[in-house]
Amino acid sequence: MNITKTVALDLCVSCEICSSACPENAISMRSLRGQFIPEVNENLCNMCGICLEVCPGIDIFTLDLMEEDNFMDIIKQNSIECFSGFCKNNQIRKLSTSGGLVTKLIVELIKNREFDAAFVLKFQKSNDRPARLAMSNDIGEIIKSAGSKYIPASVYNVIEILKEKDKKKYIIVGTPCQILGIKKFIRKNKILEKNLLFLGLFCDATLNFNFLKIINDLYGKSKENTDEFYYRTKEKYGWPGHSKIVFNSGRSLILDRTIRISLKKYFNLNRCLFCFDKLNRLSDISFGDCYIKKKQNKEGNSNIIIRTSKGKEIIESFASIFDLKEEKLVKILLSQNIKKKYKNFLYARVLAKNKSLYPIRVKSYKVNYLDKIKLKLLQYYLSLGQNYKYTRILIDFLFTKLLNKLNLFLKYII
Ligand SMILES: Cc1cc2nc3c(=O)[nH]c(=O)nc-3n(C[C@H](O)[C@H](O)[C@H](O)COP(=O)(O)OP(=O)(O)OC[C@H]3O[C@@H](n4cnc5c(N)ncnc54)[C@H](O)[C@@H]3O)c2cc1C
Ligand code: SF4
Ligand code: SF4
Ligand code: SF4
Repeated sequence: MNITKTVALDLCVSCEICSSACPENAISMRSLRGQFIPEVNENLCNMCGICLEVCPGIDIFTLDLMEEDNFMDIIKQNSIECFSGFCKNNQIRKLSTSGGLVTKLIVELIKNREFDAAFVLKFQKSNDRPARLAMSNDIGEIIKSAGSKYIPASVYNVIEILKEKDKKKYIIVGTPCQILGIKKFIRKNKILEKNLLFLGLFCDATLNFNFLKIINDLYGKSKENTDEFYYRTKEKYGWPGHSKIVFNSGRSLILDRTIRISLKKYFNLNRCLFCFDKLNRLSDISFGDCYIKKKQNKEGNSNIIIRTSKGKEIIESFASIFDLKEEKLVKILLSQNIKKKYKNFLYARVLAKNKSLYPIRVKSYKVNYLDKIKLKLLQYYLSLGQNYKYTRILIDFLFTKLLNKLNLFLKYII
């Protein structure tokens, strides 16, 4: 009845919604396998089931999906209009990850008193506490929080404020699983959604905190520790951006983006293997990088999908601060390689069937033997990252690079 089930299935995304929602204060977070994971004090728990009900981790086939929904129908749901574009403020665009639309929109909505505050994520290095989105109406702070952090961030502060059921208006930025969890909490507690604006980020996966540990171990000299880490910065080579590490010695390094991408295999969350909502279908407006050929841009360009009438109204009233061109949804889907997420949809079926997660619906799921094997292999790599098997990761990493080079060489010869 409680989130021990999510933890046992390794589906936790460290959002901390359960911990804030628990009426008995029975849940605390501890650091485990590169994540902050909830732990239930069984002496305090009364088995009310609230934590499991609001947990987005366990909900791999989000409750509003029907058995007969097929993958492409789900992906195309809730799309009113799409755009490619960027914000006209050069300073914000430079600090942001893509076109700076998220940060600029928040700044304008707060300045114009359309909303009281926004929940954004400022993160520079890992410490022994969960990284929580924080509430702010300070324009400088909001601008400093620009940029994507590929970490399992907590929305504890969002839930704590929503619980108060005040009449204030809030903007919430989040990945699809964070927004799913917040919406589950809102519906369970009958909180009105009309005062909330959900700005959703596209999301392929997040990396656990052992990723930052391996970067520090690989690139830090003796006695050097990471002071600041930027997952993607446009500082030297523009968009799509490389990573940047600043050590406590003052030394800094730009790390080629291929390093972060190659290490994803070991440090993604297990839950991400079953996630197919890459484009954030539950938000009011969702935002991602623009990977459409000929529209990519060194200064950074975004794609947005307007998903609700509230989102449409807001974009229309602030259109003058952005440079936006209408876009076809299908182009965004192709450029985001959305078909790859179909694999995750199949893995979700394997998991649902193996663990009887949805006893009534899963009877009809057909699962393929090959998918089961592929899933096991992917989970093996993740276990190396979770248990921080430094040498094995390094050997495997170098071996894979060598094989790829050999493959290219053979192709060239042939
Ligand atoms: C984990 C993750 C995975 C992503 N994967 C993809 C992808 O596969 N394809 C794609 O096109 N785009 C992806 N994005 C979105 C993309 O990186 C940009 O965030 C998006 O295009 C918005 O760009 P922007 O310049 O408008 O945002 P910015 O102006 O840079 O603002 C970003 C906002 O997001 C907030 N934020 C940053 N990290 C987090 C976080 N972990 N949780 C909650 N809020 C956060 C910041 O506080 C800031 O308010 C991902 C983002 C994240 C965080
Ligand atoms: S996913 Fe969130 S709600 Fe679910 S167990 Fe993990 S921290 Fe708790
Ligand atoms: S079942 Fe209820 S009391 Fe127990 S941990 Fe979950 S929310 Fe708290
Ligand atoms: S891929 Fe899905 S589960 Fe993983 S962090 Fe992104 S939204 Fe959450």
